[in-house]
Formats: sequence, C-alpha cells, structure tokens
Amino acid sequence: MVSFSKYRELPPLLDSHIHLTHDTDGMYPDHFHYFTNSASPDGWSSILAIDNNQVFSFLGIHPECGSGPIDDIGWEVHLKELEGFAKSQPIGIGECGIDNRYYQSFTKFEQHQLLQQQLRLAERYSLPITLHHVHAAEMIISSLKNERLTTRFMLHGFYGSKQTAKRILDLGGFLSISPNLLRSKEKFSQLVSYIPNDRLLVETDYPYTYIPAEWEDYSYAEVLYTWYETIAKARVIDIHALLDIVQSNGKILTNTPLDRRSII
Ligand SMILES: [Zn+2]
Repeated sequence: MVSFSKYRELPPLLDSHIHLTHDTDGMYPDHFHYFTNSASPDGWSSILAIDNNQVFSFLGIHPECGSGPIDDIGWEVHLKELEGFAKSQPIGIGECGIDNRYYQSFTKFEQHQLLQQQLRLAERYSLPITLHHVHAAEMIISSLKNERLTTRFMLHGFYGSKQTAKRILDLGGFLSISPNLLRSKEKFSQLVSYIPNDRLLVETDYPYTYIPAEWEDYSYAEVLYTWYETIAKARVIDIHALLDIVQSNGKILTNTPLDRRSII
C-alpha cells in the first residue's frame, strides 16, 4: 500500500516521474500530484490499485526487465494485457525506452522492438509516454521519428546534451529533469534554463533519486521542494511561477486536469 500524509506545509507540487509503489514508506503529501511509473508487468497491478485522484499512472516495460528474446519471455502477451488496461482507463505508457547498460541481457534489437510496440500502442490510444534512455539518444530519436508520433511524450531524468535536448524539443517532446542533473554543475547550468517554459517538467524518480550531500536528511517532500527551489532560482523566477509552468505542462502531457486547489 502506498502511504499518503496530510502534511500540507508545502505548495501542491507535481512530481512528473516517480515510483510510488517502490517505497511504501515515502509518506507522500496527499495534496501533491504524482505521475507514477511501473517498469515491469509485475508492478502494474499495484500501480492500478492506488486509489487517489492526485495520481496519474504510467504502465510500461522498461529495458531492465528483459532477459531474452521477446517471444521467449512472452512480451506479446504482456503487451496485449497492457492494451486491455489502455482501453479501459486513463493511463500513460512508461516507463519504456532504450538502455545500453543492459545490451548484454536484452539486446539492442530486442529493446528497440519492445519500445516500438509500446510507442505504437500509445499512439493507437493517444496516450502519453514516459521514455527512459541511457546512452541511446540516437535510437530513441530515430524511433520517435519513424513512428511519426502525434501523441505527447516526455524524456524523464533528462541528462543529455543541449543538442539532444533541441532535437527532442523539435519533435515536440517534454523534458523532465531530476536532481540527477546536479551531479554535474556544467550540465545543470547548460540545461536548466535552456528548456523552454512550455516543455519543462520536474521530477524526483523517487526512490531512485540522486541526493546531493547537503540534502541528505531531507524527507521526500523536502527533496522535491528543494529541487523546485533550485530550478526556480536558476531560471530567476518565483517557485510558484515554476509550479504553474510544470502543472500546465503536466496537464497537457496527461490530458487531465491537475487542479492545484482540488483538495486543499
Ligand atoms: Zn523511473
């Protein structure tokens, strides 16, 4: 069970990429908005069991789950199951993508096939997509181009170059940034102000969050708030203005209202 708290000291932030079901002691404030993700069919039922209208769920198959040829491990069956969910409720597809760290266990070709099928499914039902990529920008970009996607998509935890960012933006994508970007001061300063207001999303990828040393004792909510604060400061805007920007983009991505005052 995912636990939500009544802690309302902070503004109603949107976390545009999180794994709520991977850390049940997260004590997530119940007035935040969450785009929660599942990376494997094993996680779909627990995500769908979350009964909270502050949560929008993405169901997908991440490259980390692959361990053999697609047909041998029954991905076709899982994709049918995913299509069943897609038909019956508002969900997104993700996280899915390409990760070259797993090419040994799940070849580039197989990862590409699986991604292609998930992109097609999202396109068929006009669902938002959350993409994961590690050292695979070319393949992600060519897949997006080949599929001529018209549905909305975001690259989560974006850590690419400014040039790659531009190519994704040219394809109409959203770029979601996580504290991971603070690993490199140079990367952070390059990207944080480069992403235009109408394409920016903000996430933690909690519990897989990179925590800078000075945030070590922070709760989940404080981490997300401090990340918003850090971005707002770098973009020289007020944190509430940043939140408006992110909420508006999140609403467009998921095609759902994210009413900031719905439960306050
Ligand atoms: Zn993730």
